[in-house]
Amino acid sequence: MSSRFFTADEQRQIVSAIESAEANCSGEIRVHIDRRCPGNVLDAAADVFASLGMQKTALRNGVLFYVAVDDRKFAVIGDCGINSKVPDGFWNDVKAVVTAEFSAGRYVDGLTKGIILCGEQLKAYFPHSEDDIDELPNEITYGNK
Ligand code: CA
Ligand code: CA
Repeated sequence: MSSRFFTADEQRQIVSAIESAEANCSGEIRVHIDRRCPGNVLDAAADVFASLGMQKTALRNGVLFYVAVDDRKFAVIGDCGINSKVPDGFWNDVKAVVTAEFSAGRYVDGLTKGIILCGEQLKAYFPHSEDDIDELPNEITYGNK
């Protein structure tokens, strides 16, 4: 799909939320938008995670917000570095914030709020360091599905 799902301004808001979140923690956050996701949303998110090379962070602390807009599906997944440190249900608050906004049709608010919350929550496990590197681009990616 084209990047026209979001306006230029909306894209900037989302990218800016990623920058803010990454200023709070060492986690690397990305957003991917598909139109369709006929199968399992967690499988689709894991495929995108791998195809974007998101497992290539030093601390294995990449986070992907995956949205299939036409099928109204959403998933947030983290790499193994995160899953080995955080308690079960770690993503529930983030998911709740995002899906509440999405159900009202507010995609930008859902993503920006979820991303900021993600940064705040990850801070305790992956603090930001002064020599932090932006390991993964903050730009939104769009799938062909
Ligand atoms: Ca970083
Ligand atoms: Ca980044």
